[in-house]
Amino acid sequence: MFKLPTIDFSKNTFLDAETIEFHYGKHHKAYIDNLNKLTIDSERRSLIEIIKNSQGALFNNAAQSFNHTFYWLGLTPAKISIKKGSSLSLQIDKDFGGIEKLKPLFLERALSIFGSGWTWLALNKSNNKLEIINTTNADVIDLENKMPLLVCDVWEHAYYIDYRNSRANYLNDFWDSINWNFVSENFEKKDLKKIENSMSE
Ligand code: MN
Repeated sequence: MFKLPTIDFSKNTFLDAETIEFHYGKHHKAYIDNLNKLTIDSERRSLIEIIKNSQGALFNNAAQSFNHTFYWLGLTPAKISIKKGSSLSLQIDKDFGGIEKLKPLFLERALSIFGSGWTWLALNKSNNKLEIINTTNADVIDLENKMPLLVCDVWEHAYYIDYRNSRANYLNDFWDSINWNFVSENFEKKDLKKIENSMSE
């Protein structure tokens, strides 16, 4: 069985309680409940294996379960800046010319998604470069060849309660709430086990 990961919202993220109640408590929970129904008779597989080897409803619910967990873990109520001189910071300097240049690139890409989707910061494992990647609907980046570092949910349900139709304002506040410790850890360890473990019971 899969479970909704425990996320500490006590100090609140930039999102208000109603958004958390709906987005985490209803949308994310529904994906996990559906995933459990769809896998009830099958042999136990890891979430990543299911994402890599399924399609249709099973893929959509597995992917949305994963994407949302990744999204929540990338947010923080406290200001956590990127550590200057860290390996991630140096890589961002190399690939984008600095964190202040990455921000508008990432936000523009997120703004450009037509309809529902996700904007990812990822490490391309074959050339060791950082990339900004958009995926639509439930789609996940290619987890075989790319390591996700951070994701932003740009489905309307992510911002409509707090920001109505202003995706741009939501994206700006999202950027200020990024948990750079989470992003750095993903960059350094390249391990998705922590995400899977947070959803296993
Ligand atoms: Mn969502």
